[in-house]
Amino acid sequence: MIVLKTSRELAVMREAGRISQKALRLAGEAVEPGVSTWEIDKLVRQYIEKAGATPSFLNYGGFPASACISVNDVVIHGIPSKSILLKKGDIVGIDVGACYKGYHGDNAWTFPCGEVSEAAQALLDATEKALFLGIEQARPGNRLGDVGHAIQAYVEARSYSVVREFIGHGVGANLHEDPSVPNYGTPGRGVRLQPGMVIAIEPMVNQRGPKVHVLEDGWTVKTRDGGLSAHFEHTVAITPDGPAILTRLD
Ligand code: MG
Repeated sequence: MIVLKTSRELAVMREAGRISQKALRLAGEAVEPGVSTWEIDKLVRQYIEKAGATPSFLNYGGFPASACISVNDVVIHGIPSKSILLKKGDIVGIDVGACYKGYHGDNAWTFPCGEVSEAAQALLDATEKALFLGIEQARPGNRLGDVGHAIQAYVEARSYSVVREFIGHGVGANLHEDPSVPNYGTPGRGVRLQPGMVIAIEPMVNQRGPKVHVLEDGWTVKTRDGGLSAHFEHTVAITPDGPAILTRLD
C-alpha cells in the first residue's frame, strides 16, 4: 500500500532529509587515505543524534552501524569496520538515513578518496547523472517505468550496467515502504506517480556486469565480476510542481 504524505508530514520529512544530507556531507568530508570506515560511521551517528534524530539504519534488520560504507567493488550495505582503511584511489559509497519525529530521510553518495582513476571518476559521474535523470521523471502523471527507464538507458548507453536485485523504495514513517522503485523499466509502465508520494531513487551502477552476490556476513553486496560499483540516492517527494528533493540542505 502506498501511503500519500500530507503537507504537514512532508515538512517533517524535509527536516529528516536535511539531517540525512548534512550527515552524508560530513561523512564525505572525512573520506581520505588512512581513515577507517568505522571512524566515518561514528561521525555519522554523532551528528544525527546531536541533531535530535536517530540513525535509521542502526539495528535495522540487525544492521550493526549507522551508515553503510561500500568501497570499490562493494555495491551496497558495506559494514563499517576498524580494519577497513581507505586508500588513495578508492571509491567510497556512503548511505545514510535519519529518522526525525517519526519520519525517515535516506540518501547516498559515492566519494572519491583522493585522486581516482579516470575510469572510476567516469563511473561516479555517470551514476550521479543517472540519479538526476531519474529524479527529473518523478512527476505527477508519469509512471515508475519512466524513472527506471531514464536511469537504465543512460547507464547502458555508456556500457555500464544496472543492478537488478536491489532497488529504490518508498520512504515515510517506514524506512522502506511501497512502492518498489527499480532502476530499470519500460516508459509508460508501472505505478502512476501522484502528489504526496515520497520515493528514494537510488541507482546502483556497475562498471561491468550487473550480477552481484552477498557475502557471508549477510550484508555486504559485491559485484560478481570484481568491477567497481557506484551508488547515489536522494529521497524525493512527488509534488504538483514536479520532483522535490527532500535530502538537501536548503
Ligand atoms: Mg534507500
